[in-house]
Amino acid sequence: MRYLIALWAVFWVSTVMAQTTYLLKPDRVFDGEAVHEGWVVRVKGERIEAAGPATSVSGNGAEVIDLKGTTLLPGLIEGHSHLLLHPYNETPWDDQVLKEARSLRVARATVHAKKTLMAGFTTVRDLGTEGAEYDDVGLKQAINQGIIPGPRMIVVTKALIATGSYAPKGFSPDINVPQGAEEADGHDALIRAVRTQIGKGADAIKIYADYRWGLMAEARPTFSIDEIRLIVETARSSGRGVVAHAGTAEGMRRAILGGCETIEHGDAGTPDVFALMKQHGTVLCPTLAAGDAVSQYRGWKKGQEPEPERLRQKRVTFKQALDAGVTICAGGDVGVFSHGDNARELEMMVDYGMKPLDVLRSATSVNADVFHLNDRGRIRPGLLADLVAVEGNPVREIADIRRIRLVLKGGILYRQ
Ligand SMILES: [Zn+2]
Repeated sequence: MRYLIALWAVFWVSTVMAQTTYLLKPDRVFDGEAVHEGWVVRVKGERIEAAGPATSVSGNGAEVIDLKGTTLLPGLIEGHSHLLLHPYNETPWDDQVLKEARSLRVARATVHAKKTLMAGFTTVRDLGTEGAEYDDVGLKQAINQGIIPGPRMIVVTKALIATGSYAPKGFSPDINVPQGAEEADGHDALIRAVRTQIGKGADAIKIYADYRWGLMAEARPTFSIDEIRLIVETARSSGRGVVAHAGTAEGMRRAILGGCETIEHGDAGTPDVFALMKQHGTVLCPTLAAGDAVSQYRGWKKGQEPEPERLRQKRVTFKQALDAGVTICAGGDVGVFSHGDNARELEMMVDYGMKPLDVLRSATSVNADVFHLNDRGRIRPGLLADLVAVEGNPVREIADIRRIRLVLKGGILYRQ
């Protein structure tokens, strides 16, 4: 027994001694909710030990990091990424799914992970491998084991689609083409698919509640409300939430009533649908940057030509969602555009009518709350020391969020 206690003591001392203590001294701190001029933050090991006015936080035994001219924020949380995709103007989505080796996709994803972290995004909710099976699970493990630098990941693995509804499409009906997500329908098959994905490592379940289906170019609802309810009930019994891709009003309505926690895109939402979201506490992840990127890939010259109808309409529906008081999660659908360019979504949220302070809340405390991450998203004693310092003041000028001076994840300095 005495031996065990001694062994434990040696282990405890070596762990504590390995921890670095930092005192970070920026001009101001955005704590995830409000801005505090003249605050400092003390980090011990992987956690935040103290935050407050410089006179109230001890610097004893700490390595002081002078961050004059900067704003310190909680590590940013990307609400919608695909680390296993790269921009469609480099390689169309169909070709990534059908022609790229998974080993190639994973090799790229490791680079994407590093770029994301260096851009100040210390957590991503990665919403589907798009044909790369369960490769997000191994990627997450490689990051968590310290093998490669990258953000903390929430993964959904393959995502669920109703049979026949997804892509790649446009082939002869006589051949079966591998799809970018897992097809499942009806009671038993859906339960099995949800449980299998969870068993393989999914932290949440993603469904496609609508998609451009068959030979029609238009998006139409896919799963029935009963199917969505079943998916949600099955996921929820394991403590996991469900995320819905939905662009049509009816697809959104089914996702809301079925119990999904967030709706991705929501392009054709209406005031009625947004009122229903507000009523059910469903959160909108608008992915403004994806629409902006895709429009430019299709030839729109941004800044020279008027905005395409699709984007003008998106401005209208986003405003309707804000007016309805719907909670907005920050997520750009990164992968459609370059990893590391995540700030593009935050800039567009401001351009589309949100105040910079609200956008920064979305990308930190709001995303943390919506994704059930109660150990991060704020600068508060006891939370993970995921922190980012940027030159200037992004509360005044959102583009300052790109001017990264320092990135800390779990108390480890990745960029300074
Ligand atoms: Zn996506």
